Amino acid sequence: MSYKLFIPGPVEVSDKTYKAMTTPVVGHRSKDFVELFQEVQPGLQSLFATKDPVYISTSSAWGVMEGSIRNLCAKKTLNCMSGAFSDKWFDVTKRCGKEAGALQFEWGEPVDPEAVRRELSTGAYDVITIIHNETSTGTMNPLKAIMDVVREFPDVISVVDTVSSFSVVSLPKDEWGIDVILTGSQKALALPPGLSLLSVSERAMERAKQIPDRGYYFDFVEFQKNYEKGMTPSTPVIPLIYGLRSKLEDIFAEGVENRFARHERLNNLTRAWVEKNGFELLPPAEFGSKSLCCVKNTRDLDIAGLNSALKERHNCVIDGGYGKLKGKTFRISNMGDETDETISELLANLDGLLPEFLPA
Ligand SMILES: *Cc1c(COP(=O)(O)O)cnc(C)c1O
Repeated sequence: MSYKLFIPGPVEVSDKTYKAMTTPVVGHRSKDFVELFQEVQPGLQSLFATKDPVYISTSSAWGVMEGSIRNLCAKKTLNCMSGAFSDKWFDVTKRCGKEAGALQFEWGEPVDPEAVRRELSTGAYDVITIIHNETSTGTMNPLKAIMDVVREFPDVISVVDTVSSFSVVSLPKDEWGIDVILTGSQKALALPPGLSLLSVSERAMERAKQIPDRGYYFDFVEFQKNYEKGMTPSTPVIPLIYGLRSKLEDIFAEGVENRFARHERLNNLTRAWVEKNGFELLPPAEFGSKSLCCVKNTRDLDIAGLNSALKERHNCVIDGGYGKLKGKTFRISNMGDETDETISELLANLDGLLPEFLPA
């Protein structure tokens, strides 16, 4: 059974990527692996706009989200919260045995830089977590403005989740002074799940070295020690790294700026469809994500019915809302390899189905 995914992760994976992943594996301590590892570095550093190393972790993003807390927090972490993923990071921080402060915003509202300043001014914190694109609510936070505030507090190490915005918009890590930036494979990179990427600043690495209980699997110091040899601490998911190499070829063949522009254009197509049909986005339009649209179900649409029909008749699916927004919103992803044709076809199919699933 195979159908096309317009959900905000995992997203559709191309045949080229799948094919690349069938390249026979090599030993992870071999020269061949070192070549592969070093081949993907320049592309990754260029996409994160950083001089710092980019580590490859065999885990989904949550592995390195949790790992960042364990590596960096000695005092207390401030978790900026405005949706399912950012709310959960607060819970995960506490589960790591760390002190955590909740800076909570309504779901669908962006993180307010002024509130961040107020909270950090207490001097209680040594780490802040920020989710750039809160996928559950389709909200893109004003990351540059937030980082401008965070840099006023030199003792605070920033950890930024770009899981669903990496390669969608420009994320200049070094210029914005982000300490730890992380992403996952199955969102806009359009790879299967199982791999995450993270880049760690020197000052974050210095902090990590002073934290006693970093564990092993996500230890930044282990990542760095192995990075220097062109390797990963333990056996990595080599097929996904072949997939990543293939995807980086695609990204640079298209051109990074063209890729950003394509995401914006396809996102605007979806937004126009939302408006035409009398729906509205959950977040204020200016904070609407460029990766997906999270649409308020203001017309009492039978989302589950619509989605089953979409799958049965058109062989694709959208998302029926995440967590407490299930049924109250639906989400349409435009991440990854989508084109004007694929998004237009999806929207036309939705147009055809709408009358059947709206109240009479
Ligand atoms: C999907 C997602 C995650 C979690 O990723 P996993 O791969 O399930 O670990 C975290 N943050 C954001 C913003 C996401 O969209």
